[in-house]
Amino acid sequence: RAKAEGRGTHRASTAEPDAKVNRARDVKFALNNALNLDEFYLDYQPIIRLASGEISAVEALVRWKHPQYGILAPDLFIPEAEHSGAIIPIGRYVIAAACAFAATIPAAIAVAINVSAVQLHDASLLETIATCLATHGIAPARLEFELTETAMLDITPQTVAALEGIKALGCGLSLDDFGAGYSSIATLFYFQFDRLKIDRSLIRDAIGESRRRIILRNITRMARDIGIIVTGEGAETEQHRTALIELGFDDAQGNLFSPPLPAAELQRQLREVAWGEQAGQGRF
Ligand code: C2E
Ligand code: MG
Ligand code: MG
Ligand code: MG
Repeated sequence: RAKAEGRGTHRASTAEPDAKVNRARDVKFALNNALNLDEFYLDYQPIIRLASGEISAVEALVRWKHPQYGILAPDLFIPEAEHSGAIIPIGRYVIAAACAFAATIPAAIAVAINVSAVQLHDASLLETIATCLATHGIAPARLEFELTETAMLDITPQTVAALEGIKALGCGLSLDDFGAGYSSIATLFYFQFDRLKIDRSLIRDAIGESRRRIILRNITRMARDIGIIVTGEGAETEQHRTALIELGFDDAQGNLFSPPLPAAELQRQLREVAWGEQAGQGRF
């Protein structure tokens, strides 16, 4: 754009980066401010063991209760948080809140926490996790850290150390949104994931398409052979549930079973299940 304005008008070319810097600073300020004002909170979505209908884990999903715009979904602010670096303190809040929640639900249920690639570059990540585990008396195996494939594109010696450190603490690792983007078999080859989450686009597209079903059936078989739990994301219909069982999936997550719920609502439901089980009733 500066060029189009002709020779001698260097204003635009210097003003533009300034505007960018200002905007990035404003966004970072807004996000950190929201954190200080306690405007972030977590909803939790159950992940269901298909064979038993029991809850195998719950995934913590961050929301921003914005004073003007209402409840904002993570896709609206996580990219900005990653870009500005605000994801580090926000991520710390998420880990602490998820650990506090884990202490309030049955120990058989794991809590899944999404982490960005940026967080893997934070030298204090492992210490944050260890401190939160200790503070709330949580067994490390109850936490599963979810990384998207995109996060795995950005692998450096530091991120490798972070992933190995998470495993060394005794926590689980999940590969999120598998098949949505830049799937690489190397990710599975070099890292010991405990759970593979197949992206909802693949689940949706597998319905009634035999070639696609064969691919998924072989992914679940491979995963089982190396001891990885396979979850189908975005299960919305009975047809999805039937297909996932038939294709060898262990777990499923989606609105068919439950949408993401406020912590108090999930705690209430879990208390009900405990009563229901005594009466011989499952939940899902
Ligand atoms: P994700 O980790 O793949 O989480 C699953 C997303 O799918 C959630 O969106 C969930 O609400 C949605 N979902 C669940 N069941 C269904 C269904 O049946 N149908 C459809 N269409 N969608 C379903 P949400 O909560 O908007 O989160 C979006 C993404 O934001 C997450 O995708 C995750 O990558 C990221 N995210 C969420 N919380 C955090 C966090 O605390 N930290 C970081 N770094 N990222 C987060
Ligand atoms: Mg996730
Ligand atoms: Mg996902
Ligand atoms: Mg996603």
